[in-house]
Amino acid sequence: MKKTRRSLLHAFGAAAIIVPASGLFLSRIAFTADMPKLTIDDPTAKSLDYTHESTDASKRCAGCQFYTGASDSAWGACVIFPEKLVSAEGLCNSWFMRAG
Ligand code: SF4
Repeated sequence: MKKTRRSLLHAFGAAAIIVPASGLFLSRIAFTADMPKLTIDDPTAKSLDYTHESTDASKRCAGCQFYTGASDSAWGACVIFPEKLVSAEGLCNSWFMRAG
């Protein structure tokens, strides 16, 4: 009986962590889907020479440390351009090779 009560407490503890975390994950997906695409005439994009199409195959947003988009997505979020999506094929002067 004591073991069952402990197991229940562990299950509730795990649920207390997993449920809010999954909610954050789902809200992030919904938030990202609503974000507009970065345009090349955006003042910050201009100042960092952002382009939607990198001419250097070894440097693309998808391989940048600041890119947080899904690996199979054509557009994704970037830490440098909050609330805007950047092209996975894009590039700017802040590119930094993704670790790992
Ligand atoms: S920092 Fe620049 S290169 Fe890196 S993901 Fe953002 S826009 Fe792309």
